[in-house]
Amino acid sequence: MKRILVLSTGGTIEMLKTGRGLNLDHHANIDTGSIQTIQDTEITVRKYLSLPSPHITPEIMADISNELRDLEISKEFDGVVVTHGTDTLEETAFMADIHLEGSLPVVFTAAMRSSSELGVDGPRNIRSAVRVACTETENLGVTIVLNDEIHAAGRVTKTCTSNVSSFDSPGYGPLGFVDDDRVIYHRLPIWRLNLPPGPLVLEKRVGLVRTAAGFGHDVIDFLTETGYRGIVVEAFGRGNVHPETADAIQRALDTGVLVVITSRCHEGRVLGVYSYPGGGMDLLDRGALSAGDMAGNKIRLLLMATIGAGLEKEQIRRMLSSL
Ligand code: ASP
Repeated sequence: MKRILVLSTGGTIEMLKTGRGLNLDHHANIDTGSIQTIQDTEITVRKYLSLPSPHITPEIMADISNELRDLEISKEFDGVVVTHGTDTLEETAFMADIHLEGSLPVVFTAAMRSSSELGVDGPRNIRSAVRVACTETENLGVTIVLNDEIHAAGRVTKTCTSNVSSFDSPGYGPLGFVDDDRVIYHRLPIWRLNLPPGPLVLEKRVGLVRTAAGFGHDVIDFLTETGYRGIVVEAFGRGNVHPETADAIQRALDTGVLVVITSRCHEGRVLGVYSYPGGGMDLLDRGALSAGDMAGNKIRLLLMATIGAGLEKEQIRRMLSSL
């Protein structure tokens, strides 16, 4: 008998349509009808919080991650399914992934459609997530299950505002699938980023700046001047920026701000290939760190947690060097 906990946190999966659109005022409880039929499983449903996921801050993500860590230590359950809004699901799942040891299967799921809509996907997604939580192999890390696909927390992103097949891992694809008869894995992640053990402490002042043609330096200067301790820059292509942005990065570095370069591209690594002013090689030579092929929103959370844990720049560089 597998003991599975379903921890609900809000999102469209719990919303009902009122006269003024979707919200949590008229609340739909997690629909467990689809999971009662899974054999040899004891399901416990616990409401942890009830928020639309754009309202979930990094601090709340840390609370959820700490709660999951407590469950991992207690061994009270054989697996946990977290229901969450889709908008920031990838961020909460990633924070849990870098915080957890990995011995407890933790599966995030959600719905793109509320139960007021035709073709509702929530009940099926919950059932698939419970099945994954029951069968997940150890050390897979936190996974996300929607639309019958299993994705790794470190790679998954919401790609479409509306489609039920919104979640994808660009450049990598799903780890596997949930079919009618069983759960099938096609690939396993061979590594994942891990924080040092201990409770999550976040440095709030870590920003994310997405560059656009002729834009970026003002925001970087603003963050530096207002005391930010870390800035993640979503640069162009291989990790390149305009010379004015490079100068702003230099000013940030001179003030002791940690600057990490990611790319606006959906796939591929940052690499010091271009030596022109603002090129990736130039930025790394100046002392910025490369985040490889990781997404900016996830690296920002990693930076919040590593700076919060008191890690030095060299330790963070070593952690990112595997990317
Ligand atoms: N806006 C909703 C949320 O993230 C979307 C969803 O749950 O699918 O809470």
